[in-house]
Amino acid sequence: MIIQMGRILIIEDEEKIARFVELELIHEGYEVEKSYNGRDGLKLFEAHPFDLVLLDIMLPGLNGIEVLRRIRQFSDVPVILLTARDAVVDKVTGLDGGADDYITKPFAIEELLARIRVALRKKSGSNTSGSSDRLKAGTLELDPMKREVRVRGSLVNLTKKEFDLLHYLLENKNIVLSRETILEKIWGYDFSGGTNAVDVYVRYLRAKIEEPFDEKFIHTVRGVGYVIKDEE
Ligand code: CA
Repeated sequence: MIIQMGRILIIEDEEKIARFVELELIHEGYEVEKSYNGRDGLKLFEAHPFDLVLLDIMLPGLNGIEVLRRIRQFSDVPVILLTARDAVVDKVTGLDGGADDYITKPFAIEELLARIRVALRKKSGSNTSGSSDRLKAGTLELDPMKREVRVRGSLVNLTKKEFDLLHYLLENKNIVLSRETILEKIWGYDFSGGTNAVDVYVRYLRAKIEEPFDEKFIHTVRGVGYVIKDEE
């Protein structure tokens, strides 16, 4: 059996965005097909195997939520929704409808690529029988199954939010994550406390996993956000 890896379907009626994303994805080595219309996109999906779908919500033909609903009737393909900035209801409906992730337009292409990698990895991970995938960066280790964090082998106690934040940063190792993205992921789309919360929790984390060990894991990227890098 030939397994085709990395075939992505873009369903997005803003042709400029669709074409731009298509070019970037092809450049990254993915195979790409695109549709500017919900109904045609769904037909394409039904006709060919895809590994992931990028799905706009406001679409002519069939809207994205309806496309998602129909896809979910027969497929668990990872679906990332492309949503407008203020469309909170769409995000909720989309995630309830079985979307794996969403990204708010306008987005940085690096961030979309990162989300795609995570979604594809999760998908392939869920097929390997329950092996606990430990995440590592230097002497920092996180076990998502046991919800344990260790630095140089010593167990560190984190609160739920601290753990979730660290988990998210490690999952996206070497990718700079904006405060807005982190906020949406960890605090949710309806959190109104502002991106300051991210800085506060990064400080909490540093006080627990870096300072006592004289280590540096979380790097600040000025004006952008945070990244955990593999040690050079
Ligand atoms: Ca649209």
